[in-house]
Amino acid sequence: MPFRSGFVCILGRPNAGKSTLLNALVGEKLAIISPKPQTTRNRIQGVVHVPPGKGKNKGKRNDGGQIVLVDTPGVHKPDSSLGRKMMVEVREALEGCDLVLVIMDVTRKFDPRDQFALDLLRRPKTKAFLILNKVDLIREKSKLLPLIEQYRKLYSFAEVVPISALKRNGLDTLLEMVIAALPAGPAYFPEDQITDQPARFMAAEIIREQVLVNTSEEIPYATTVIVDNFEEGARLTRIAATIYCEREGQKGILVGKGGLMLKKIGTSARLQIERMMGTKVFLELYVKAEPGWRDSRRFVEELDWRRQLEHRMLEHGTPQPRSPESIMSETRTPEPKSEELPARTGGSADDDPDPTED
Ligand code: GDP
Ligand code: MG
Repeated sequence: MPFRSGFVCILGRPNAGKSTLLNALVGEKLAIISPKPQTTRNRIQGVVHVPPGKGKNKGKRNDGGQIVLVDTPGVHKPDSSLGRKMMVEVREALEGCDLVLVIMDVTRKFDPRDQFALDLLRRPKTKAFLILNKVDLIREKSKLLPLIEQYRKLYSFAEVVPISALKRNGLDTLLEMVIAALPAGPAYFPEDQITDQPARFMAAEIIREQVLVNTSEEIPYATTVIVDNFEEGARLTRIAATIYCEREGQKGILVGKGGLMLKKIGTSARLQIERMMGTKVFLELYVKAEPGWRDSRRFVEELDWRRQLEHRMLEHGTPQPRSPESIMSETRTPEPKSEELPARTGGSADDDPDPTED
């Protein structure tokens, strides 16, 4: 079997475990995860380097390969500019991929959102595996059989693979099957690269994850994070970011009594970003109310890091991912500083983070 490679799209309704699967296969946390639906808003690519000889597939030796996994926002009926942008991300991911992993949560009944995912596959007809996720939650495995029957009637899946993305069960088998289903091809990414996402965007996502973890009700859906400044040094990365919400009341909750909530979000995010960057991090967080941002097409488009990079390329002629100004800070109307509520979490280069915090 020659070296194989290809783009593999992970498709499924919100909360099926798509991002958990991406992270488990890549072996690093690339996509943020939370029990709240619609956690993933952009398409995220992760690269899995499969070494040669790992397992045999149908008697053929595997010569290794590279899988470019594409995690997508959960498929759902869009209800805002943000929702429509998320569905565009899904459709773009499906275009030109070699294989689709349709991921279903076995603890949930089939519903219109699953049907919506299957309908996306039909135009154009794509080679697909059915991935039955969360089997760790099912005690009697025989209960899976009628489910498999049911799904097979809905689409002609090339393989059906039961897994637990969380417990990492069944993933080696899945990788072998995926490699075998891909065409012979080159490595698209160098071996030390596991994602195409800029660190700047991943930092914004890590902050957004801490907002999701620490808040409830409408706040997770009403917030987004933009990194205004990202300066990477050998020992210290300086980051300034703004958490946007929709109303003053939400801003109050995000800041918390005496700024405590913002401090909590900032500290947890900083520790994770430090791990990702391998440097100390100085993180400044601001909160702003931007009424109706989810319905503003311009605002939503500006959230896309691919678009932010394009803008920078147009402005500077070359990609400048470490440019101190973000696109948003250039396009929004300036507000008086006193409106913003900074939370400084993290010290200077020689200020050790509290070891008990981790
Ligand atoms: P996504 O919306 O499809 O990307 O789903 P996520 O990956 O964000 O996961 C949604 C929730 O399901 C999270 O709370 C995960 O921890 C949980 N989850 C994902 N995979 C599994 C699994 O295999 N078993 C169990 N028990 N939970 C899982
Ligand atoms: Mg996700």
